Amino acid sequence: MIQITDKSQCCGCTACASICAHDAITMQPDALGFLYPVVDKGKCVDCGLCEKVCAFNDHYDTSLNLDKPLAYAARHKDMKEVETSRSGAAFIAISDYILEQGGVVYGVGYTDHFRVVHKRATTKEGRDEFKGSKYVQSDLTGVFRQVKKDLKDGFTVLFSGTPCQTAGLHSYVGKKLRANLILVDIVCHGVPGPYLWRDYLAYLEKKQGDKICWVNFRDKQEFGWRAHKETFKFVNGGGKMSFTYLFYQHIMFRHSCGVCPYTNTKRPSDITIADFWGWEKTDPNINADDKGVSLVLVNTEKGREIFDVIKDRMTVIPARLEDCLQPNLKHPSPENVHRTKFEKAYKKYGFKYVYYRYGNVGPIYKLRQMKLFIKKKLKFR
Ligand SMILES: Cc1cc2nc3c(=O)[nH]c(=O)nc-3n(C[C@H](O)[C@H](O)[C@H](O)COP(=O)(O)OP(=O)(O)OC[C@H]3O[C@@H](n4cnc5c(N)ncnc54)[C@H](O)[C@@H]3O)c2cc1C
Ligand code: SF4
Ligand code: SF4
Ligand code: SF4
Repeated sequence: MIQITDKSQCCGCTACASICAHDAITMQPDALGFLYPVVDKGKCVDCGLCEKVCAFNDHYDTSLNLDKPLAYAARHKDMKEVETSRSGAAFIAISDYILEQGGVVYGVGYTDHFRVVHKRATTKEGRDEFKGSKYVQSDLTGVFRQVKKDLKDGFTVLFSGTPCQTAGLHSYVGKKLRANLILVDIVCHGVPGPYLWRDYLAYLEKKQGDKICWVNFRDKQEFGWRAHKETFKFVNGGGKMSFTYLFYQHIMFRHSCGVCPYTNTKRPSDITIADFWGWEKTDPNINADDKGVSLVLVNTEKGREIFDVIKDRMTVIPARLEDCLQPNLKHPSPENVHRTKFEKAYKKYGFKYVYYRYGNVGPIYKLRQMKLFIKKKLKFR
């Protein structure tokens, strides 16, 4: 049976909990809200399936992959879609097609006051909630089993998520059902803990004395494609408030992100989508207005078939793979050296303490900035 002794070896994909026919595994949160499998030994019959299904290792299945992904710069032809998506709206182009064929789309949305979860959509209106990156690990509880049910019921299913989620789902559904499952992953630098996001919202609401009714993790329309700032709307506040994202330093990532096996071009998906940083080398015009452009990697034959059908919905320019290799296609984001201290402090003193200790507010942050400034000055003397 699965036993997590080293937290960095579990990405929380839920494949083990989903496959256990005896419902012996539940996913339980740690101090930051990351879910880990816990086995009820009374229910376990030692069948070993949970260990077998786990794909979070260097031997994940790449048997469907092309020798090398086909790379493209891509932007949706409808600028309204580009403006409301994170990058160039490649996800909309792909998912529109699946929905038009009567398929089902899974992606990341919200439940109970902006808790980040995977959801199922059968209409474009429902799917639109998945637009935009939510920089928190999504809760997948019950989702893999629902995907399997949809596949068994004969639906074509598009599942979008982080590479560790698509790898887990690929392993869980098995070869036969994989035929009607289209996996779309993102290039992923890591995921912050759900409880920090929950507490961050509560902190902002307390400060404002009002309830948040709308969030955007990275508001491109307000700040542009490159900026990393959230935007919130409060119920009575009228306008918007924006804050530089607190935890931009990888300090609240899941431990597994520091050793992620998927940070390369052997992707556990049919199609990979990302921000196309360095797009200028491929085409100087495609993002001249800086409204965002997608990197699309076509990884499997099935991915190629789908991309061939949908590519007319976008402006598409072939790219050289070497020109697309952003850091998380080469190596995992290194874990912040203060990660363990951070978690201990959060557990002991709560959110506000770590926000002021490690965030971009308060005297400690100002001191750190001053030190950096002096260091830079000395370097250039
Ligand atoms: C946690 C995270 C880390 C990322 N890291 C990078 C990076 O290092 N480099 C890079 O180029 N791009 C990164 N991205 C991807 C990028 O921000 C865009 O999501 C991607 O380019 C798709 O843009 P789009 O315009 O095609 O789609 P959009 O319409 O913006 O769709 C967003 C897609 O992302 C999925 N998604 C949103 N939030 C989550 C989540 N929490 N977990 C899993 N899936 C989610 C949705 O289901 C949907 O498929 C990251 C995204 C997330 C969520
Ligand atoms: S990585 Fe997924 S399958 Fe493996 S132990 Fe963690 S939750 Fe279970
Ligand atoms: S060994 Fe089998 S029964 Fe036990 S937890 Fe794993 S899948 Fe369930
Ligand atoms: S960095 Fe790797 S382990 Fe972390 S969420 Fe992304 S895909 Fe999963």
